[in-house]
Amino acid sequence: MIKKGISRQIVLHYFIVVFLALLLVELVFLFSMRTYYYDSIYNYLNSSTDVPQNYISDQSSPVKYQEIIQRYELGDTVEVQLLDTQGNVLQNSTNFRVDKPIQTGDIPQALAGSTGRWIGKQAGTGENVMAVTRQIQVNGDNYLVRYVTSLERVNQKLLTITMVAVGVGAAVLIIVLVVSLGLANSIVRPLNNIIGVSTLMAKGDFNARIKGNYPHEIGELASTLNYMAEEIIRSNQIKDDFISSISHELRTPLTGIKGWSETLVSGGFDPEETKLGMSIISKETDRLIGLVEEMLDFSKLQQNQMKMVIGEVNLKEVLQETMLNVWAKAEQKKIQLKLEPGARPFIVQADGNRLKQVFLNIVDNAIKFSPEESTIFIMLTEVSPERVRISIQDAGIGISQEHLEKVKDRFFQVNPNRGGTGLGLAITQQIVQLHNGEMYIDSEIEKGTTVMIELPLTKQQEILQLT
Ligand code: ADP
Repeated sequence: MIKKGISRQIVLHYFIVVFLALLLVELVFLFSMRTYYYDSIYNYLNSSTDVPQNYISDQSSPVKYQEIIQRYELGDTVEVQLLDTQGNVLQNSTNFRVDKPIQTGDIPQALAGSTGRWIGKQAGTGENVMAVTRQIQVNGDNYLVRYVTSLERVNQKLLTITMVAVGVGAAVLIIVLVVSLGLANSIVRPLNNIIGVSTLMAKGDFNARIKGNYPHEIGELASTLNYMAEEIIRSNQIKDDFISSISHELRTPLTGIKGWSETLVSGGFDPEETKLGMSIISKETDRLIGLVEEMLDFSKLQQNQMKMVIGEVNLKEVLQETMLNVWAKAEQKKIQLKLEPGARPFIVQADGNRLKQVFLNIVDNAIKFSPEESTIFIMLTEVSPERVRISIQDAGIGISQEHLEKVKDRFFQVNPNRGGTGLGLAITQQIVQLHNGEMYIDSEIEKGTTVMIELPLTKQQEILQLT
């Protein structure tokens, strides 16, 4: 017995479909065979032609009847009966006396003028027979000529044919059973393997892999599960890295704050030193606030709760403000920030503060990963009458192709020891998307990185442009 499950479903479905199809075909076939054989017999019994009455002598009745019977005889296997219109047998080719009038269905048909046909069991013998009856007229009197022939041999033949058909059908069903069982197994075996491995994964063993090369959808399912396990391992790794880097990021300013606050509490410093200590505490606190805000932003974006205050924003102005904000940082590394604002103003419908946050993050990264005394270009270019591109190009360490795909992922950092949370570009990307824009990164290791953001221009702006 096949266990409950897909196997049984498949085998059962195939079996039922083929069984019903076979049943239909065999029934049609057997019915046609039966009709063919019976029709052949009927045509044979109906083949005798009317004998002109002047061939029949006008003798006494029994002699006349015998003569008629002889005229209509069709061979040894066919009994010829001569009946009056009431169905009484007047004469019989077998000389077998029949006392009762015959009342089978062929008699009324013949009396109605057509050739009567009846198939059934003959009274007395119980034999299966076919009777074909026709009305004739001899010397002005109406008679019925009735042919009766046994169907036993034909039925025997039909039974043999039926047995052969059933045998062929059974053989076909056995083949279907074997083939469908093989097919079911070819599906169920890999599925069981996949279930086993995914159970291990569900229990936390993400190193378990589905082995084997399975075809079609099952192969896809297996490789998707394997990919999922790899992604879980990767994201776990990224989270671990994030926790360690964020702890580090938090500890550095906290150590500074704690150190300076303890020092100041112990007293005995001149106002200059106190001012320096306080300014370091304030700077480190800003850093902490910045970090916490970044994480809060990220969580808001994740939950779609970031509120946008949309208005007309002049991109050149936002970029200038951004440059002012990072100017001190750039100055420390003697990095030049060059703005190329384009020939005309570019106005977009946006949340100015959020856009500034985007540019700050990208320019901040550019400064962080650029060598001293290099230049960072910030350019505004028109892609089409409807779109503007903001490019921030540095000549820094660059990002390898392998890492380029992942830098926009949350928590991802090429080098977690360089500070940061790995959230900046993930947040940037989401804010850009909220503005119906797109962000691309082009980078070559040791050559530099260009981050490009494309935003839709306001409709008014387009109209202004076109006129
Ligand atoms: P982080 O807060 O760590 O800077 P980001 O999401 O902004 O996080 O950046 C993710 C990673 O992408 C960075 O850790 C860095 O490795 C890489 N990256 C981003 N911008 C640049 C750049 N201009 N040059 C080189 N690497 C960069």
